[in-house]
Amino acid sequence: MTTPPEIQGVLRKLREAQFAAFVVGGSVRDLLLKKKPKDWDIATNANPQDIQKIFPKNFYNNDFGTVTVITNAEDETVKEIEITTYRTEAGYSDQRHPDKIGRAKTIEEDLARRDFTVNALALTEEKDTADNHKDKVTVEGMNIIDPFGGLKDLDAKLIRAVGKPSERFAEDALRLMRTVRLAAQLDFDIEEETLRDLKAYATAIDMVAKERIRDEIVKIVMSDSPERGIRLMEETGLLALTMPELCEGVGVDQNKHHTLTVYEHNLKSLQYAAKYDYELTIRLAALLHDIGKPRTRRRKDDDYTFYGHEVVGAKMTDQILRRLKFRNESREKVTHLVRRHMFYYDVGKVTEAGARRLLRRVGKEHFDDLIKLRIAERKGSGVPKAEPYRLRHLQFLVEKAAQEPITTSQLAINGNDLIEKLGMKPGPKIGGVLNALLAQVLDDASKNKAEYLMAEAKILKNKNPDELKAMGEAAKDEAEKKREDDIKRKYHV
Ligand code: ATP
Ligand code: MG
Repeated sequence: MTTPPEIQGVLRKLREAQFAAFVVGGSVRDLLLKKKPKDWDIATNANPQDIQKIFPKNFYNNDFGTVTVITNAEDETVKEIEITTYRTEAGYSDQRHPDKIGRAKTIEEDLARRDFTVNALALTEEKDTADNHKDKVTVEGMNIIDPFGGLKDLDAKLIRAVGKPSERFAEDALRLMRTVRLAAQLDFDIEEETLRDLKAYATAIDMVAKERIRDEIVKIVMSDSPERGIRLMEETGLLALTMPELCEGVGVDQNKHHTLTVYEHNLKSLQYAAKYDYELTIRLAALLHDIGKPRTRRRKDDDYTFYGHEVVGAKMTDQILRRLKFRNESREKVTHLVRRHMFYYDVGKVTEAGARRLLRRVGKEHFDDLIKLRIAERKGSGVPKAEPYRLRHLQFLVEKAAQEPITTSQLAINGNDLIEKLGMKPGPKIGGVLNALLAQVLDDASKNKAEYLMAEAKILKNKNPDELKAMGEAAKDEAEKKREDDIKRKYHV
């Protein structure tokens, strides 16, 4: 892998104007790991005004002295190229932002402010430029400036802080999360001293904005090794400080059917969701689906039950994702998947009516994701018994159910028919009759014929409201709602 022509062009133009310019940071690291960099950062001794003159198509962020150059490239990763003037940072009195951003004179000084040795590498196309630097190395034709032993750490697969790790964490507490996140993304270990100081400084994570913590957690969850990432968070104390609910499952045994503890099962389910390349919300649901188990565990004979854990777990999931400032849409989706993950299915036992009821609770748009969650969760239970055939059968039943009515608006007659043909008055009773009809149709879809429903409605319209309500209960899932309320009351959620 080499640097794309757009990057080479930017470096060349800066050099032609007599400035030094290097590719730096994560992009060099990724190049050396033979991964395609997600973005490219360039460091130069040119000041922002000079950079803007050389690249007229740009926008400028004054806070960081970064000029973003716009190219005509097709490739997303080089459409915008960030060029930053060498800088130093000093005095992080709030453990978040440097009090002073200064100009650095050399690339070495700029690299020294970076967080990890593998991120503190610079690349130049020109051998002559490299020759002016003490810590230069040529790797596969690339001229690398490596003042902190980043190449060695790349080989050893180690995340090591530049300089004294305690000082680097004290300067900027986000680095606590970045350490773990990079270890998960790269599948690297954390160097001993860095790990020790990470543990010692973990509580400083409270100083960091929740949104930034969330972004790092998302990157961990979306990495190829999220299980490792969450484990590292647990070992270092970061998990207890950001998602303490997950720690409740550590060491909590389940029952005869489960060989893994609640915590281990949550991690394994997440890892399978990553293995199958599922999207963020499903991965989060896999991680959180059994989070209510520790609080609902009860002894029964010589075993445990977790009755209602999906209701308690959904509430806890909602709280966690609110706290971490996830978007409403993601939070609602994950909470819903956790709430519904216990759906029952068994070939021969799930009736068509059961499938329709399930579809109504879950929602058609969420059903495939719920199946994915089930697959990840089964795989992650440590019981190798695969069930794709049974799940496919359920999917078939549900697809069929999706063709049939599950709401009153899909009935063969509507409120107007009741008013016009049966002389009913507009009002709540119309809804009552329709619900009672739907209850019948949910049990037997073949009853959804206008003629049959009108004949039934004629009888139903003379029932009193209480009778109608009782008849419509199945349609409104009243029993399920009552169960949820009871569980919530019991566990004060
Ligand atoms: P990715 O782009 O995959 O998230 P990255 O390593 O490129 O990872 P960026 O956030 O893009 O990370 O930052 C680019 C570079 O800036 C890093 O490689 C690192 O050298 C430096 N950097 C970023 N954040 C910090 C920080 N909090 N402290 C010190 N250096 C940092
Ligand atoms: Mg980057």
